[in-house]
Amino acid sequence: MEEQSFDVAIVGGGLAGMMAANRLAQLGRRAVVLEQGSEDQYLCNSRYTGGVFHVALRDIMTEEGELKQAIIESTAGFVTDKLAALISSEGRRAVRWLQEVGVRFMKADVAAHRNWMLAPPVLKRPGLNWQGRGGDVSLRTLEANLVRHGGALVRGARAHALIMEGDRCAGVTVQLAAGETHYRTSAVVIADGGFPGNLDMLRQYICAQPEKLKQRTAGTGRGDGLRMAVAVGAGALGLDRFYGHVLSRDALINDKLWPQPYLDPVVTASLMVGPTGERFVDEGRGGVYVANAIAQLADPLSAAVVFDQAIWDGAGRNGLIPSNPNLPEAGGTLLQAASIAELALKLGCPPAQLQATVAAYNAAIQAGAPATLSPPRRITRHAAQPITMAPFYAAPVCAGITTTMGGIAVNEHAQALREDGSAIAGLYAAGGSAGGFEGGPEVGYVGGLVKCGVTGLRAAEHIAGGLA
Ligand SMILES: Cc1cc2nc3c(=O)[nH]c(=O)nc-3n(C[C@H](O)[C@H](O)[C@H](O)COP(=O)(O)OP(=O)(O)OC[C@H]3O[C@@H](n4cnc5c(N)ncnc54)[C@H](O)[C@@H]3O)c2cc1C
Repeated sequence: MEEQSFDVAIVGGGLAGMMAANRLAQLGRRAVVLEQGSEDQYLCNSRYTGGVFHVALRDIMTEEGELKQAIIESTAGFVTDKLAALISSEGRRAVRWLQEVGVRFMKADVAAHRNWMLAPPVLKRPGLNWQGRGGDVSLRTLEANLVRHGGALVRGARAHALIMEGDRCAGVTVQLAAGETHYRTSAVVIADGGFPGNLDMLRQYICAQPEKLKQRTAGTGRGDGLRMAVAVGAGALGLDRFYGHVLSRDALINDKLWPQPYLDPVVTASLMVGPTGERFVDEGRGGVYVANAIAQLADPLSAAVVFDQAIWDGAGRNGLIPSNPNLPEAGGTLLQAASIAELALKLGCPPAQLQATVAAYNAAIQAGAPATLSPPRRITRHAAQPITMAPFYAAPVCAGITTTMGGIAVNEHAQALREDGSAIAGLYAAGGSAGGFEGGPEVGYVGGLVKCGVTGLRAAEHIAGGLA
């Protein structure tokens, strides 16, 4: 078996791994990124990304205390004070650091949380477009910098086991086309993007029928990092939640309908029904929460959003790539009817039940008592609008999974932790591999990219400080 010697091995060449490697190289450490993809522009979520660096959907440069509060509130306290403070203070540093090494940002539009978006922006049109866009260009910039500073990125290298010397992680075993290779290092950073692309793990941790979720992802996060880390004693946190959006059900067969447009702005203004025409979720908790609730249905392909002309002309036009007019223009099903009863027939649910659901919803909203609904409806984050203006609409939906929220338990240095809270010497987790930064009962979305930036830099600096 071949042996290779570097200071640090990084599993995965997405943004988290490339930031960690570049920072290590800056600090004089020989870093090798081991990337399973063999193509020049190997696929990963960081290449597909929308590219917005935000914190809990706030401008990443917002005052730290406010950001910390937003993280704690949106995750209902699931994220600890320490990790919330870390993201709030270090997110901005990650953006500044990226700028210093040549990664470009721009302001996307008037929304404050989109003030820091990787440039060039993704095109404002339905479907996937990543070539030459911010994520792709940033990864190429980081790879060029890494090589210039003496680091290496090895493609076609799938890591499958950690090498332990006593209690300490001392490298990683990798499958290369030429055979198995041991990388002996003083530290390993797992940055493999979590497990959104592993159906067995999704079934184990998230929902019974993961094949009925739309993979709104590159599919390259296969849970290898979590499996390897758990095998050497690491704990895991928050594995039951995912970051995703509500997509047209046709996204399962029509590539123009993912990753955008998503229907979250319409969903959070109106109401969701299951196959019986009854509500099953509090739409006011946001699109990410609703996507997780859809995944939990007995049949995750049985939900639809119901709304009216006023919502279609209002919330339907919100977002970077709004569903009005992109959903129908891209071929997504949009049912239209002059009455709720007629809409129910088109949707295939009992007309009397859908009429009763809409009537109860309208009455509660108009009385200012949305909490009396079952399930109760919140209006603190998203205003609920009555469904009264014909024509009426329904769109069959599915849950699109973008990334898993949970992962390997880490501390503020991104060191992997055992169940008892002690750090595993030499082992780190960054980006989508790291848990404890988002999720919880409210499925609070904190931000995939900010997580990459903060944990990537922190891991590198802890290792380079000789602290691994
Ligand atoms: C369509 C889309 C839009 C998004 N928009 C936003 C946004 O606007 N803002 C935001 O904050 N987040 C967004 N996200 C999420 C964000 O892009 C991700 O959270 C982030 O890019 C994850 O980076 P990562 O480095 O952790 O993982 P990845 O980018 O997925 O990289 C992991 C790498 O590890 C490799 N790998 C996996 N297993 C192994 C193994 N065993 N051995 C070697 N290599 C391995 C993979 O091939 C991959 O290249 C979006 C994601 C998608 C898909």
